Amino acid sequence: MTSFDPTAEFSAIREGVAQVCAGFPGAYWRDLDARRAYPKAFVDALGQAGYLAAMIPEAYGGSGLNLQAAAVILEEIHRNGCNAAACHAQMYTMGTVLRHGTEAQKRTYLPGIADGSLRLQAFGVTEPTSGTDTLALKTTARREGEEYVINGQKIWTSRAEHTDLMVLLARTTPREQAATRTDGLSVFLIDLRAVQGVTIRPIRAMINHATTEVFFDNVRIPASALVGEEGRGFRYILSGMNSERILIAAECIGDAKWFIKKGSDYARERVVFGAPIGINQGVQFPLARAQAHMMAAEAIVYRAAAMYDSGLNPGVEANTAKMLAADASWEAAEACLQTHGGFGFAEEYDVERKFREARLYQVAPISTNLILCFIAEQVLGLPKSYGEGRG
Ligand SMILES: Cc1cc2nc3c(=O)[nH]c(=O)nc-3n(C[C@H](O)[C@H](O)[C@H](O)COP(=O)(O)OP(=O)(O)OC[C@H]3O[C@@H](n4cnc5c(N)ncnc54)[C@H](O)[C@@H]3O)c2cc1C
Repeated sequence: MTSFDPTAEFSAIREGVAQVCAGFPGAYWRDLDARRAYPKAFVDALGQAGYLAAMIPEAYGGSGLNLQAAAVILEEIHRNGCNAAACHAQMYTMGTVLRHGTEAQKRTYLPGIADGSLRLQAFGVTEPTSGTDTLALKTTARREGEEYVINGQKIWTSRAEHTDLMVLLARTTPREQAATRTDGLSVFLIDLRAVQGVTIRPIRAMINHATTEVFFDNVRIPASALVGEEGRGFRYILSGMNSERILIAAECIGDAKWFIKKGSDYARERVVFGAPIGINQGVQFPLARAQAHMMAAEAIVYRAAAMYDSGLNPGVEANTAKMLAADASWEAAEACLQTHGGFGFAEEYDVERKFREARLYQVAPISTNLILCFIAEQVLGLPKSYGEGRG
């Protein structure tokens, strides 16, 4: 029989991921959330089961799966009430390393990442003063012989304390001297175990995300840490960001499914005025609407992933998928919390924690406004409202 589920071929992966997640129930995440602790046991279990190596080619010890499979893995983690934020960078930075990294970088690091002995979990782009305007970033990497010397500061660099390797975007040519507007930034794959001058400060945040600020003070790295060509890093990061958007969107779909199921289960069980609250359309409709919006978003997410896997760079689809999926998860979060009434605020129901976590994706890794700006410009041909092409 024909399946209209674009992820049908990955059903064994779904089952396997669900099995791993079953060992990490709500109580595990609640405890970590209260202590703002890193879910090491969960990340180790995923790594041992091979899921974190999904996108690493077999030649380097991974499973050589595509972005669609990776999206299914992350979606399933979230659908089961777990949180992939602790480890998703390993997948979404992989495109940059695979497409633009040198053979030596791949041989040195990918087998270790694949067998779980090395972690590539940090992606340093955002800075305090540049925010969304990535081209305005100020961290510099100055070439000195066979080294680069890095100075500057990143903010919101998640998981920096729980990684061995970091993908870093820094300026190698002053903005005014760069050949084009987008030239002059470079990507580096830094082995944090081998450098001095890096200071990492955790940021206590609304959610348990292991996020930090990172200071670089004359940090010397070998020139071999450069990914691709010097000065072309912004392009590499942009193409990598499409995979990031798609993977985060898949997590949002998983969250939406979790919220909708949790809310529907509760609406069937909770009896008020002598009947389950779910008998009321005022309770049903928000959940049903969230379900419809989730299904629409899910279709775009897997279309974008399929386009990426066919070698395209689907910027419009990836951004659209991220926005719709984040909206769907937030709508589902709201419906689920409202359905739970006061109990939605009680930690032991896990709804309030997931509610806080789902809110992030209206802001990061790219805010809804900036996606709308991008669609307006790229698809509708409206004047650019951000960056230097403004007006
Ligand atoms: C928990 C968490 C984890 C993160 N992890 C990472 C990470 O691992 N690595 C990393 O590099 N970054 C990370 N980030 C950073 C994240 O990508 C940024 O917060 C996000 O890109 C927005 O940048 P900003 O916070 O500086 O907001 P700003 O750029 O200051 O924007 C503030 C608000 O203004 C709006 N805005 C700005 N310009 C425009 C415009 N032209 N039109 C309309 N609206 C506009 C934005 O939509 C936003 O709502 C993380 C952030 C958080 C909160």
